[in-house]
Amino acid sequence: MKTLHRSQSWPNQKWRWIIPILLLLLFLSTLIWLPWQAQRMEANERQEQLIADSLWVEQAIQFQLNRNDEVLRQIGGEIKSAKLQKDTVLERFRTILKNNREIQRIAWYDANNKVVADTRDIVQADGGRVPSPKFEFGDLEISEETICLKPVLEINAKNTYLMHCQIPIIKDERRIGSMMISYRMNAILEELVPWWFAQDNQITITDIDDRILAERSAGGSGKSVYTHSRALELPSLTLVLRTNSIKTEPKLLSNLLVLSVILLSIGLIWSLMALWRDINRRLAAEGALRQQVTFRTAMENSLVTGLRARDMEGRLTYVNPAFCRMVGFPAEDIIGRIPPMPYWAPEAIEEYQQRFNQLLAGSVPSEGFETTYQHASGERIPVLIYESPLIDENGKQTGWMSSILDISELRRAQELTRQQEEKLHTSAKLATMGEIASMLAHELNQPLAAISSYTTGAVNLLQGGMIDKSLFQSALEKVNAQAQRAGQIIRSVHEFVKKREATREPVQIADLIQSAMPLVELQAQASHVALQWKIAKKLPLVLADGILLEQVLLNLTRNAIEAMQTTPPEKRILRVEASYDDNEQHILVSVIDRGHGIPAEVSEKLFSPFFSTKSAGMGMGLNICRTAIEFHGGKLSHSDNPVGGTIFQFALPISASHINNIHNA
Ligand code: ADP
Repeated sequence: MKTLHRSQSWPNQKWRWIIPILLLLLFLSTLIWLPWQAQRMEANERQEQLIADSLWVEQAIQFQLNRNDEVLRQIGGEIKSAKLQKDTVLERFRTILKNNREIQRIAWYDANNKVVADTRDIVQADGGRVPSPKFEFGDLEISEETICLKPVLEINAKNTYLMHCQIPIIKDERRIGSMMISYRMNAILEELVPWWFAQDNQITITDIDDRILAERSAGGSGKSVYTHSRALELPSLTLVLRTNSIKTEPKLLSNLLVLSVILLSIGLIWSLMALWRDINRRLAAEGALRQQVTFRTAMENSLVTGLRARDMEGRLTYVNPAFCRMVGFPAEDIIGRIPPMPYWAPEAIEEYQQRFNQLLAGSVPSEGFETTYQHASGERIPVLIYESPLIDENGKQTGWMSSILDISELRRAQELTRQQEEKLHTSAKLATMGEIASMLAHELNQPLAAISSYTTGAVNLLQGGMIDKSLFQSALEKVNAQAQRAGQIIRSVHEFVKKREATREPVQIADLIQSAMPLVELQAQASHVALQWKIAKKLPLVLADGILLEQVLLNLTRNAIEAMQTTPPEKRILRVEASYDDNEQHILVSVIDRGHGIPAEVSEKLFSPFFSTKSAGMGMGLNICRTAIEFHGGKLSHSDNPVGGTIFQFALPISASHINNIHNA
């Protein structure tokens, strides 16, 4: 299910990016289009402005030339009707010339094209404007309309064009003269184009063949970006007025816009990438977290150790599945509960309560403790619990964490081992018994033979009729003593082989050694070993299983005797010592021989089961001894005897009641 879900979400994740990317592209293209559009609008606006201004200038020039024409026509009319004299006309001409600086010359001709009045003369007299050559009419057509002629270069002046216009004076449909007005083309631009327009534009007047007749460029030459040409319609002449703006394309604005678009785009892409990175990082972290959680859950679920968390009031806040399995309650039934808990065994409630109070008081035992839980089915489960404080990320304690180990299996295994060991003890005992049975028979032979000979003697005395009372008594006492000794040997063997569970009771170690003595003696005698005993007086009691300890003693003495087989007979001494170590409060029992000793390689394996250097040895003796001593809380050790041979020694703790007695005394 999960993998399916994942594979479905893949294309979705891809598609999720398509929309923002498309939006981003749209946004970017809009951003790029905007400055371009703005520039175009600006350019259009400038162009339109230029056209409007050019129109205005053209109109202004047209208007002024028409006005001049009108004024001269009026003078012409007056010449016809009022018969104006040359001087008056000249005076009028002079006024016009003064007010209109674009006009270079005005002249009045009669019907034969002879100059009547010419402003050239006055100008020369005034010493003002540069004189111009006399104008020749040639064969000009007679017409009532004003006629402007193609501008011509002014003689003696550089690149200066003059345009002459003739205004006829007509009377009774007959030309009685004409007036000639000459415009300096440059001056037309200088005078009639307003300064603000000239400042921004290069203005030229050309003829229709594109010959430049006049030019004005006060603000520099035109950039040919915004240009406009208008026809300048003059009477019978068409000129062209060209304007060329000195303005270039609107760069700054577009540059700024483009720059900001680039910056914005970079910023946008960068932030999108950062977002992308961030999302990927988050996704990765989320994935890792999910994996961690799954891993932890799997770990928790596979744990066999029960885990339990409690808050500061002892309320259960968490349990793992192993704990639930152990106590047989589902988590939801026990989480949130405060003691007493449903898994507390009624017989141990007091113990739990006490421990719980200790916990609330803040004393957590560092080592684990054993107790019993009650499964929901009523079954008792032995458990081992470790408690530790639960510390949060700020280092503050928020409760307790416990790990709970179900030790029923362990207990069962221990019990099984113990039983097996016991069985082994029994078989070992039987083996020992088999071995000593012959010795026992031999030893019993002695007292029995003695008894037999004493009783035979006594019978003979009776038959001989010799009745010596004291002799009889002595014989019977000896019989009695031998019989008792035999009985003691038999009893101790009987005790030893009797199969029974280990029971502990206060034992006087001296008595114990005493009761084992006959058997030891039996072995010793067979091997010609001299036996020595040294038992301290008033030894404290030990809590022990007497028979087990006897067996230990028998095993150790038997090993010692066997180790001395090759020792010269005079050195075959077996010493058994018992003393009390006040410091350690231990009873120490040593079995000292003068045998072949224990080499290092043997020493390592000494206590391993079935390790033996003897051809008929079982190799269980020392192993059983150590188990038996440790079962009593004691310790079995060995060391080299300084005079040759080995010392085996076991220490046994003395019984607690005895310690009390010692303290009370
Ligand atoms: P077994 O007597 O059947 O061999 P034990 O466990 O009693 O088994 O002894 C193991 C081995 O330890 C013996 O075979 C012997 O080599 C060595 N050993 C035990 N006691 C002594 C001793 N007092 N002196 C020398 N060697 C000893």
